Amino acid sequence: MTASAGRTGRAAIPGVDRLLGHARLRQTVQEFGRGATVEAIRAVLAGVRASAEEVPGAESIVAAVVKQVRRDRAARPRHVLNGTGVILHTNLGRAPLSDAAIAAVQSVASGYSDLEFDLETGERGSRHAHLEDLLVAVSGAEAGTAVNNNAAALLLTLRALCDGRQVLISRGQLVEIGGGVRVPDILNQSGADLVEVGTTNRTYVADYARAITPATAAILRVHSSNFRMVGFTAEATIADLAALCRKHDLLVIDDLGSGALVDTATFGLTREPMVQASVDAGASLVCFSGDKLVGGPQAGIIVGRRDLIGRIRQDPLARAVRLDKTSVAALAATLRHYIHDEWSTAVPVWRMISATRDSLRSRAEGWRARLLELCPGVSVIETDTAVGGGSLPGETLPTFALAIPGDDPEGLARRLRLADTPLVGRIERGALVIDPRTIDPRSDDVVVSLLLESLAR
Ligand SMILES: *Cc1c(COP(=O)(O)O)cnc(C)c1O
Repeated sequence: MTASAGRTGRAAIPGVDRLLGHARLRQTVQEFGRGATVEAIRAVLAGVRASAEEVPGAESIVAAVVKQVRRDRAARPRHVLNGTGVILHTNLGRAPLSDAAIAAVQSVASGYSDLEFDLETGERGSRHAHLEDLLVAVSGAEAGTAVNNNAAALLLTLRALCDGRQVLISRGQLVEIGGGVRVPDILNQSGADLVEVGTTNRTYVADYARAITPATAAILRVHSSNFRMVGFTAEATIADLAALCRKHDLLVIDDLGSGALVDTATFGLTREPMVQASVDAGASLVCFSGDKLVGGPQAGIIVGRRDLIGRIRQDPLARAVRLDKTSVAALAATLRHYIHDEWSTAVPVWRMISATRDSLRSRAEGWRARLLELCPGVSVIETDTAVGGGSLPGETLPTFALAIPGDDPEGLARRLRLADTPLVGRIERGALVIDPRTIDPRSDDVVVSLLLESLAR
């Protein structure tokens, strides 16, 4: 804040009423209400009084009040534009929902719904009924259910089916899945006994076979979703494990992590394990996230044998990790996109993955053209988009992005993060880079305005 000459005394601090008469704050009152504005004025004035610095001028105080009201009234979490080029950005909320999923959420959130009500009979229904047939249709499994997230899906599955018994897992799959959550910890929490088999880099079916005892309940396979093992490695396939488990009457539980319902190889990426393939190969149960490559809301999806899904639903823990109505609605709408074969255009994650180089280049060029006058150094560069979010580790898609050079790219990045609509980019080779792939084209005008505003300062 700048201090105006002659206003340095405490007595120079303007009062609430005087500030409320200021044109900009009258506008704030109209927009956010008198109560919110007065509250913000009091907070700002308290800060001014407590500060040892010179009393700022009225204009600075007014600007601080406007900022404070906006901050107080802003939605939490805030809507953010993701220019980072990481499609499934866990810190930015992973998958954006499709228009149909958003409409479905809006519809159930704005009133009552038949969440657990059978409209036919007028009696109590089941929240599972909304998802079951859709999960069966997309996965080819006998049955399916969904809970709060995939970590909960794994915990619940192990608790319901393996409590007090042994679960075999390859040493190469005792992984940390992010945010400090580790597979061994989930196993411990579930009450199952973890039995490590094989070695870090190589585990054969024979290793599992040797470890089977009368106390064994299942073999758990965990997909290495956020790292890649290369070199001298070996892993048993689900088909091999299923054959072994049939012989010994054990379960094969496959934690796919992201779990793709469509083939990522179509887009020049390596093949992320597909849910349908795992079901076909004989997995008893397959679990995966709703908000990774499925492109829906946060959820943990479990598909597989009907009897096992039934036992999972009966477990007391199921209630503690159940999905809320908005997530049920969003997940159902998302799954329908796969059933109607419209996923590549409807589901934002797949729209981003399948965006063509030409379309990305032309959008980046469009942004550049509108910024050139203010920032002649701005350019379009060829760089990479990451899929991220615990899928396809190390895999990238070629993209074209806007690069804004300058003395202080970090400062510019910060101004953009703190704008009314935050825009998050990344710093690459000393420039601020904004990747159009992870931004909805409908937001292109907003992106340009935000950049113009931040560059002008
Ligand atoms: C991401 C991931 C999980 C956790 O899924 P959430 O939906 O984030 O709880 C579990 N297992 C694997 C292999 C994962 O990649």
